[in-house]
Amino acid sequence: MASIGFIGLGNMGGPMAVNLVKAGHHVKVFDLLAANKEAAVSQGATAAASAIDAVKDVEFVVSMLPSGPIVESLYIHDSKLLDEIAPETLVIDCSTIAPENAIRVADAARQKGITAIDAPVSGGVGGAIAGTLTFIVGGDEDAFTRAKPVLASMGKNVFHAGDHGAGQVAKICNNMLLAVHMIGTAEALQMGVDNGLDAKVLSDIMLQSSGRNWSLELYNPYPGVMDGVPASNQYNGGFQVDLMNKDLGLAVDVALKSKSSTPMGNVAKSLYAMLGRQGNGSKDFSSIQKLFQPGDE
Ligand code: NAD
Repeated sequence: MASIGFIGLGNMGGPMAVNLVKAGHHVKVFDLLAANKEAAVSQGATAAASAIDAVKDVEFVVSMLPSGPIVESLYIHDSKLLDEIAPETLVIDCSTIAPENAIRVADAARQKGITAIDAPVSGGVGGAIAGTLTFIVGGDEDAFTRAKPVLASMGKNVFHAGDHGAGQVAKICNNMLLAVHMIGTAEALQMGVDNGLDAKVLSDIMLQSSGRNWSLELYNPYPGVMDGVPASNQYNGGFQVDLMNKDLGLAVDVALKSKSSTPMGNVAKSLYAMLGRQGNGSKDFSSIQKLFQPGDE
């Protein structure tokens, strides 16, 4: 079993670190929030006094942080973790960040003789708790092979997307598509209801027809159609609109740089920005359904 330093114990990182402990790894944890660190320690992790302490004398460093600037600040600029990490240690950053952030960290690490890979995840908080996340790795084949058993302790699918930054590109493509089919599902359901259909009956019909998609099948946005999803819990829990907005911002940046045409992604970004500005930033992203519901007509 491996020794692992884990930084960033929020909604995702907390349960991921605990799953590493459950798999028998020795996990040293650090978070700026003492309560998050204590929660992981209460489940068998060892407390690190600082981020620097967390990355010392470990075989792997795993980080799960909110944004690219924070990841760069930790590894390169402010905490300068790359000055403290041993060359044999493999750095695995699981945060969703811009591909350029991931490439800059990988390049800075290489200059110190360290290998760093990007391994963003899909599967949400539920997947983090259940240990069923999908990891999408960007980095070289050797590093991917070394990281795989560690990632497999936290997820059930581990993909190698390509070189450094490719994990982020794949993750961003996926979440742009997720936003688009969630919006399409919500508007189709509302149009059906507006024309006298029952949302559950319409969902059952489309599930056996060509409109079938992940949002409809597993995450129905119309309240009351499906048990156990945020739509049936006032859109609480799940994947926040604020995070979807972050990911759609990353998608627009990626498209701009590659001169890709992403009209549906651009519309999705505008609609999610509107939803966030209407006070739904902390609601689940399936609350996009609310934009299509009739107001006072
Ligand atoms: P979160 O805000 O719950 O957790 C982030 C944690 O990082 C917090 O505990 C915070 O205190 C800690 N942190 C911030 N700066 C730090 C620093 N300098 N040193 C140490 N700790 C620091 O966020 P989350 O929901 O866990 O998301 C983390 C990442 O995972 C994000 O990049 C997000 O886009 C991605 N992601 C989230 C989901 C989801 O459903 N929540 C799904 C897939 C991917």
